[in-house]
Amino acid sequence: MTEAAYDAVIVGAGFSGLYMLHRLRAQGLSVRVYEAGSSVGGTWYWNRYPGARVDIESQEYSYSFSPELDAEWVWSERYATQPELLSYLNHVADRFDLRPDIQLDTRVTAAVFDEATNRWKISTDRGEAVTARWCVMATGCLSVANEVAFPGAESFEGASWHTQSWPEGGVDFTGQKVGVIGTGSSAIQSIPVIAGQADHVTVFQRTPNFSVPAHNGPVDPAVAADWAANRAQRRAEARETGFGIRMVEPRETETFADDPQARQAEFERRWKIGGFALLGAYGDTLASEEANEIAAEFVRGKIREIVNDPETAEKLSPRSFPIGAKRVCVDTDYYATFNRPNVSLVDLRDEPIEAIEPTGIRTSKQTYEVDAIVYAIGFDAMTGALSKIDIRGRGGASLHERWAAGPRTYLGLMIAGFPNMFIVTGPGSPSVLCNMAVAIEQHVEWISDCIAWMGERQMGRIEATETAQDEWVAHVNEVADGTLFPKANSWYMGANVPGKPRVFMPYIGGFPVYREKCEEVATRGYEGCLVASDARA
Ligand code: FAD
Ligand code: NAP
Repeated sequence: MTEAAYDAVIVGAGFSGLYMLHRLRAQGLSVRVYEAGSSVGGTWYWNRYPGARVDIESQEYSYSFSPELDAEWVWSERYATQPELLSYLNHVADRFDLRPDIQLDTRVTAAVFDEATNRWKISTDRGEAVTARWCVMATGCLSVANEVAFPGAESFEGASWHTQSWPEGGVDFTGQKVGVIGTGSSAIQSIPVIAGQADHVTVFQRTPNFSVPAHNGPVDPAVAADWAANRAQRRAEARETGFGIRMVEPRETETFADDPQARQAEFERRWKIGGFALLGAYGDTLASEEANEIAAEFVRGKIREIVNDPETAEKLSPRSFPIGAKRVCVDTDYYATFNRPNVSLVDLRDEPIEAIEPTGIRTSKQTYEVDAIVYAIGFDAMTGALSKIDIRGRGGASLHERWAAGPRTYLGLMIAGFPNMFIVTGPGSPSVLCNMAVAIEQHVEWISDCIAWMGERQMGRIEATETAQDEWVAHVNEVADGTLFPKANSWYMGANVPGKPRVFMPYIGGFPVYREKCEEVATRGYEGCLVASDARA
């Protein structure tokens, strides 16, 4: 049977896949998008746990490519909720008439490159196969749940959920004893909301995290007016910052240039503003251990101030990694939740989980009876989604095998040996260290420009060279080693998934530097890539 043939197949219909489809279709390409979920939206479709919301101000965490879209969409809260983000992405799908080219409830299982035709053959779990010149993996950095095989988990008689695959109708915890495992962003957002409903919540914490208050609320009318008047400029400002976020007054000042009182006042001011403002206080927080400790201790002081029980406050205080080396959580009432009589904290460093039993969670010290378990245990980040697809490049090479010791890419966009395949926000790009909306737009535009460039020259195959890839990987590592980031056992390092190689995956050189490098590569005729016509030049 002959397979349907497209110019491009895109895998995933989140922020990345939707914009990729819009761009490629505008270039006149025939495109098919496959999405495993039952709706568009990606992250904001799957992560429906209570309290889920963005940690960057809503105005900035959205598309900028269409001024009309930008102007017509009105955000209601400073940090938009998951339902609002999901309706935004659905609106985008409708506004740009994207749905006819998206096939939902379809998981791509394999992608195999055919050297004779320079085309990818893409197979799905519905038994379909199609071919495409271009294959774009818009599969997400945080789209595959971390699966931990807790002994006895299947014997649990109550209900359990992973925050990443929350039931569409929500969960009613009224009258229940709930166990939440994990204290990352997903847990920190959901615990206060669950505690407001459940009879009792027991939080199982392995590593405490740094969290800062969101001070969420309706979008300030002055902020909305400023954005309405200066939208293009505000967007441009975000793109010029290292993390793609218009940080509140980022300062170059070094920590020890201020005396302790001035530092305290500066941190206090930023704590009141909320969100990532705190991290902009001093230019050396993420580079110097001594400076970092000052910021970390400020947050620990806040925990002691908020949490009534000193022992609980100490257990909640992170001491094993620098602040910022894991994404700082942005919360609403997280620490204060531990003052509630119906919330208790179990420190897994003292009493590790041994097993899940039919009616509870057993640690080395005791069994905690629960009616429901929330697994807020994170993701097989950055490489998880790609590793679940059987991707075969030139000579039948398996991506899984190529990346056995850790991912290797050129600019986080292409992989040597895998021609005509692109990754959106792949390992080796700023991705998760950036406002992802900003990172995604830049990648999608670079990829679609590259495909247009190839089309104009009637070229059929482009592939990163091993040399260019090696040099880029070396640069990514070198830049990371100059920071405190590799000092944390984070998911950036693959450290949260047992057996995963420990490699610092995102690029920490800053978004503007990275974007310039990508532009330079394109301007120089896709330097570092081999380009060939279909006749195999
Ligand atoms: P995703 O949104 O993950 O979409 C990828 C899609 O690909 C998914 O729908 C998935 O089902 C599909 N897919 C994967 N594999 C296959 C396959 N084999 N076949 C078919 N379909 C497949 N970033 C920020 O910048 N700020 C934030 O505040 C923020 N908050 C977040 C909160 C949560 C709970 C999570 C999990 C992530 C958050 N992120 C945040 C990161 C977020 O993932 C990105 O901002 C962005 O949504 C990623 O969009 P994407 O389209 O690249 O990936
Ligand atoms: P995460 O940060 O990886 O946190 C997972 C938590 O589960 C950690 O506390 C981890 O402990 C714990 N855990 C994992 N395996 C465990 C085990 N076997 N036993 C006990 N505890 C275990 O995952 P996440 O909270 O889902 O967040 C992931 C990323 O998604 C964030 O960093 C952020 O980028 C994004 N996100 C953003 C928001 C937002 O605010 N907008 C919300 C959610 C997610 P250890 O630390 O000890 O490994």
